[in-house]
Amino acid sequence: MDTPDRSRPAEADSISGADRVFPTLTEKQVARIAGHGRRRPTTRGEVLVELGARAVPFFVVVTGEVEAVRPGEVTETLIVRHQSGQFSGEANMISGRRSIARLQVSEPGEVIELNREQLLGVIQTDAELSEILMRAFILRRLNLIARDLGDVVVVGSMHSAGTLRVTEFLTRNGHPFHYVDLDRDHEAQELLDRFHIDFSEIPVVICRGTSVLRDPTNARIADCLGFNEAIDRTHVVDLVIVGAGPAGLAAAVYGASEGLDVLVLESSSPGGQAGSSSKIENYLGFPTGISGLDLTGRAYAQALKFGARVMVTTGATRLACDGQRYTVDIGDGPPIRARAVIIASGAEYRKPALERLSTFEGAGIYYGATPMEARLCVGEDVAVVGGGNSAGQAAVFLASTARRVHMLVRGPGLADTMSRYLIRRIEENPSIVLRTRTEIVGLEGNNELERVRWLDHQTAETESHDLRHVFMMTGAVPNTRWLERCIALDEKGFVKTGPALSPEELASAKWPLARPPYLLETSRPGIFAVGDVRSGNVKRCAAAVGEGSIAVAFVHQALRQ
Ligand SMILES: Cc1cc2nc3c(=O)[nH]c(=O)nc-3n(C[C@H](O)[C@H](O)[C@H](O)COP(=O)(O)OP(=O)(O)OC[C@H]3O[C@@H](n4cnc5c(N)ncnc54)[C@H](O)[C@@H]3O)c2cc1C
Repeated sequence: MDTPDRSRPAEADSISGADRVFPTLTEKQVARIAGHGRRRPTTRGEVLVELGARAVPFFVVVTGEVEAVRPGEVTETLIVRHQSGQFSGEANMISGRRSIARLQVSEPGEVIELNREQLLGVIQTDAELSEILMRAFILRRLNLIARDLGDVVVVGSMHSAGTLRVTEFLTRNGHPFHYVDLDRDHEAQELLDRFHIDFSEIPVVICRGTSVLRDPTNARIADCLGFNEAIDRTHVVDLVIVGAGPAGLAAAVYGASEGLDVLVLESSSPGGQAGSSSKIENYLGFPTGISGLDLTGRAYAQALKFGARVMVTTGATRLACDGQRYTVDIGDGPPIRARAVIIASGAEYRKPALERLSTFEGAGIYYGATPMEARLCVGEDVAVVGGGNSAGQAAVFLASTARRVHMLVRGPGLADTMSRYLIRRIEENPSIVLRTRTEIVGLEGNNELERVRWLDHQTAETESHDLRHVFMMTGAVPNTRWLERCIALDEKGFVKTGPALSPEELASAKWPLARPPYLLETSRPGIFAVGDVRSGNVKRCAAAVGEGSIAVAFVHQALRQ
């Protein structure tokens, strides 16, 4: 039988003041919430929300006490007790995802109960309560993450590409998990034995204490955790946005906050390229910089707050142009029908033509430099390939923990487009060795990268280095394969919009309207393109966010016509 662990919860204070995480509402605030829901009595021991419940109501305690606990096999961990004037819930109140704790009554009394739609109504209409509730929900989720209090256990090894992928997926989705490292943790073997798992099957994801997933795809994890299950795919939405990077998330925030019914499709997890940036220092309003994960995590929460729905691991596979111009196919299930479309599918790293590159992806070859990758190469030599902004940012970031960073640039110097502040930091950092006219010509190792060969074009000499981590930052190619010549693209595959579309391109696309395409509108009316995927776009977060927000103004106009 479970033995309750009734020690005082080590909550909140570590991340922010307890009054911000577990505030007590004033009588007036409680009365305003009561107007949206119903009052009801509670009885001792009553379970208000079960662990894993799909529809999670929101409660304000009027009298008595309720507690959030994390049931375990042996002990029950107390997360927090809510007393009179306090309220339940965390980030899943906004996302509509399953409950990751049990909420039960510890002292009988009375509560006010709201369903998710009623709660969203409060958040969208009451600015004061919105701030208190949103801040508390987000900080509570951060606390659950900090305390490993999730419903997922990942058993893996930091030397396995799959483990990096799975932990990155859960992190980007803001889902708390407990990580058990096979290389270091004594619990690990016991866990593997208990679930009859072979070492070769890692990473293993134990999902909601019941399903054991062996080396699962991200989509399988999303399925198990019910990330997409609250989303109705059958009705026609006002606006479908393809891609949840900065551009798509900005469009979702503006679209949903301006009353549009918005559905975002994301083939991987929210954040896009920005999510893989260790620190963005030139985004307006963050003088000390902000990690890409934080920036896009906030944007994601903001989009959900206004009622946008985001389907993860659900890529658009085709945009139908044959009469039903606003139909987007997704891998399985019915196509998504929408009255307008914003293409925000961005770009992804160009992969150099190197033998065995895919063997070492995630096991020595990385396309992003975040604290997750940095942890793998503390005190070691690493190579960063590329001369643009993202390469510069990665080199400076990695130099703070790696022994030496070899920055390999094929051209004669750093790119003209690199920000001045980054160039100075690279020049002044003794741990960064800039190697111009140099390119990698060989990757060696068994399952993990062990050695790298690079060619110095100035001396025509090839050097071999025992180096286990290479960061590929070599420019990007647009994610437009799914558009299949449905709309006009430029010679590099980026989507052409507005004034960039020639009369010939419009004629060949059979542009049907008397007016020319709006700024950001593609060669099909009502279909817009924003951010890195757009031809002529400046590849920066601010540009992506700006375009995402502007496009919504044109969506309104297109919908009115
Ligand atoms: C490491 C790194 C550091 C950077 N640092 C900075 C910086 O300091 N400052 C700055 O201003 N900019 C920086 N950038 C650039 C900035 O991140 C990009 O300009 C920005 O992310 C572009 O946003 P986006 O939404 O247009 O596209 P993306 O960020 O590329 O997002 C596109 C999203 O669409 C999804 N997607 C793709 N295809 C499909 C499909 N078929 N269906 C559904 N979804 C799909 C992708 O998974 C992705 O999530 C950096 C980029 C990188 C990679």
